[in-house]
Amino acid sequence: MRFTKGKLFVVSAPSGAGKTTLCSRLLGRFETIGYSISYTTRTPRHDETDTEDYYFVSEEEFKSMLENDELLEWACVHGNYYGTSKKRVEEILETGRDVLLDIDPKGARQLREKLDYGIYIFITAPSMEDLRKRLINRRTESEEIMNVRLTNAREEIMHYGEYDYVIVNREINKATNELESIYIAEHLRSDNIKSLEDIMEVD
Ligand code: 5GP
Repeated sequence: MRFTKGKLFVVSAPSGAGKTTLCSRLLGRFETIGYSISYTTRTPRHDETDTEDYYFVSEEEFKSMLENDELLEWACVHGNYYGTSKKRVEEILETGRDVLLDIDPKGARQLREKLDYGIYIFITAPSMEDLRKRLINRRTESEEIMNVRLTNAREEIMHYGEYDYVIVNREINKATNELESIYIAEHLRSDNIKSLEDIMEVD
């Protein structure tokens, strides 16, 4: 798969860092970027909708997608399988837009090894205590699952150096500006421009 027009934005974060809010704000502001809805074997949360938040599938369905080479990347995260559908990504690119992937560091690593393009952004909270508080306030997970996620967060944050950008979400509006700024700046790169005529009229 080759991304000729659109750019690939890959975002990772430990649970509770505010990534979902930040990604929705980015998607809400720019129509030029589309979200690739992942496939997962995780049970839906009370506020989640199948085909909007994820495609919720059985382990058998997930494994069959894997065998049929339908996934661009995949990983087992906090005990469940998650994967990006090649078809979903292609569908977004066909509309001429950029793609936003919200995936864990293992998935991001697979993409980095596979593709020679992509913009990688890591989001974290200012402290482990902050992550813990946000997870508790979110009330989406049982205590047991929350503890698994917090333990995994310690490992995930060690990978920040593999990303092009790091956002520390101390305050949501500031972090939103930072994410939007990265998106805008990536579109201003000189290597996006094939010839001077693309950007200005020359006599
Ligand atoms: P959650 O269960 O909180 O929605 O997501 C748990 C973790 O799975 C998050 O780190 C999220 O980024 C990651 N994740 C979601 N979709 C995918 C995917 O398609 N591939 C990979 N590798 N990770 C994913």
